[in-house]
Amino acid sequence: MSQDLTNPGYEIPPEIQNQVTITTLDKIYNWGRRSSIWPMMFGLACCAIEMIVTATSRFDFGRFGMEIMRPSPRQADLMIVAGTVTKKMIPQIVRLYNQMPEPKYVLAMGACASGGGPFKEGYNVVSGVDEFVPVDVYVAGCPPTPQALLNGFITLQKLIDTQSIKTVRWYRREPVAPLPVPVLGPDIMYPQKYAEIREYSLKKRQDQQTVAQQTLDQPPVTDAG
Ligand code: SF4
Repeated sequence: MSQDLTNPGYEIPPEIQNQVTITTLDKIYNWGRRSSIWPMMFGLACCAIEMIVTATSRFDFGRFGMEIMRPSPRQADLMIVAGTVTKKMIPQIVRLYNQMPEPKYVLAMGACASGGGPFKEGYNVVSGVDEFVPVDVYVAGCPPTPQALLNGFITLQKLIDTQSIKTVRWYRREPVAPLPVPVLGPDIMYPQKYAEIREYSLKKRQDQQTVAQQTLDQPPVTDAG
């Protein structure tokens, strides 16, 4: 391959030999993005401790160009969802995701963020953050080790390498609509679906009333003996 590049079949003027590199726009664009991912600085539970350890000198995710964890979503490219996602927190997570500029990525760190983990089906925990925001990389474990998180970063870099400037969503003509932000009421719900939820609840109540009325209308059971 290097043989082909140094002997392209036409004459290269001596003054630019060894000074010009030819590559594709996609490659250089992706190389720049994959080498400077800035994660948002927040953690939700125990997994966040492992994420913090990944930043320390032993593991040092600064090697990936991502040592600058940003406290503002507007300066972050990567949301690491590190920990248990409760119903109380999910509205804030979706709002922060919407506030991140494109290109942006989400990494679900650990069993809780990926699917609810040990708290799955718990009254206060959502069964995976991917029900609310699109997840690009999942990292398994409870908690995942720093090495596993580093592997997640490498997986994300490989994903970025496959993207093309011509097809990525942030350069499409159509504007990308923000994700609907759920609210926490008696349970988590979307205000946008209010009419649908109301109709469903009214129908359910009507069905219950009908069953109760039918029970009342039945003749009392008498003792045949
Ligand atoms: S996956 Fe395990 S370590 Fe991570 S937040 Fe859940 S319970 Fe804690």
